[in-house]
Amino acid sequence: MSTSDTNFDDAVRIQMVRLGAALYDRGLTPGRTGNLSVRTDDQIMITPTGACLGRLDATRLAVTTLDGQHIAGDRPSKELVLHRVLYRHHPMCTAVAHLHSTSAVAVSCLPDLNADDALPPITPYFVMRVGRLPLIDYAAPGSAELEKQVVRATELSRSVLMRNHGSLAAAASLENAVDAVEEIEETARLYLLLEGRSPAYLGEEDVADLHRRFPSTA
Ligand SMILES: [Zn+2]
Repeated sequence: MSTSDTNFDDAVRIQMVRLGAALYDRGLTPGRTGNLSVRTDDQIMITPTGACLGRLDATRLAVTTLDGQHIAGDRPSKELVLHRVLYRHHPMCTAVAHLHSTSAVAVSCLPDLNADDALPPITPYFVMRVGRLPLIDYAAPGSAELEKQVVRATELSRSVLMRNHGSLAAAASLENAVDAVEEIEETARLYLLLEGRSPAYLGEEDVADLHRRFPSTA
């Protein structure tokens, strides 16, 4: 199947290349880490296995069925299985972003985090763009155990922090999914900067008020 026979036109391909380069240029997805995907009713387009997000080729992005069968472009990222879990549990979401960004990975290695919600509500933007961030235990990339844990976490939220690995977030558009993983990274950075200094976080009432004002974020 050629790229023109897939569900993904030039505009969405160019957007994925552009967003990948923007993440890479700002040091948010080093080396050949991280992956982005978008989906339609019957196909997923994802960055290829071993691809550097800073140098994606719009004509070689991997296209699969919703079951993960490869139908066009280069071979899909091995982390496609995690994207598919989020799509299955959040049918309104049409895009997923995954990063191994430094601060998010650093926080994921700390002891005594709340497994139901790994980062505190430091800013309203974190509450609005990410909401709840379940933390899952380490499991090898590509393993059935990692997939099982992501399934459990996505029952709670569209965003997940994977110990010793990175962040994963689904949203209604690729830009929003990228915003969410960037927000996780920025909040993780703030959390590390503030650690041990008794900072003031948003209170329960503030968070409830944000969910009332912006219901889609709850
Ligand atoms: Zn990964």
